[in-house]
Amino acid sequence: MHRLYEYGDIAVFWDSDKCRHAKRCVTGSPETFEFGRRPWIDLSKAPTATIWKTIAKCPSGALTCSYTHDIAIKLDPENNRSVAYPASGSAPGEPVRQIGECDYRITEDGWVIYHTEVSPEYGGRGIAKRLVYKVIEAAERAGAKVIPTCSYAAKILAE
Ligand code: SF4
Repeated sequence: MHRLYEYGDIAVFWDSDKCRHAKRCVTGSPETFEFGRRPWIDLSKAPTATIWKTIAKCPSGALTCSYTHDIAIKLDPENNRSVAYPASGSAPGEPVRQIGECDYRITEDGWVIYHTEVSPEYGGRGIAKRLVYKVIEAAERAGAKVIPTCSYAAKILAE
């Protein structure tokens, strides 16, 4: 199971298949990580630095994180994609500037992720991973298999 949690300036990626239940997350920041609570990760409960340090100690790689860099990610199910755009919006009268997207097709076999792209000037900030996670999470919630034909999405799933 893949989940993306975002709050303020931090984005947290959770891959439950990797978790070894060593519970370093729970002991490192019990307010943030609580097994049995829904959602079990609540990023509003502790400062970003505490959460970041706790995630760095996850021995399995089940938890990873990045800064949001003032970039918001949302699912756009009507157009079968997730989209990245400046969280602070745009100048008055200007359209919201899209800086990245991850596209998928819904087929009988599953959700096919076939394209992921981020504007080059925003590269290296973890935005593509957030875009892909957003789609994977939605597919899993819909009970669908994820089929990555986009090489970046395939890499994320193989990690
Ligand atoms: S620290 Fe990592 S491996 Fe340990 S319980 Fe938390 S998520 Fe799982």
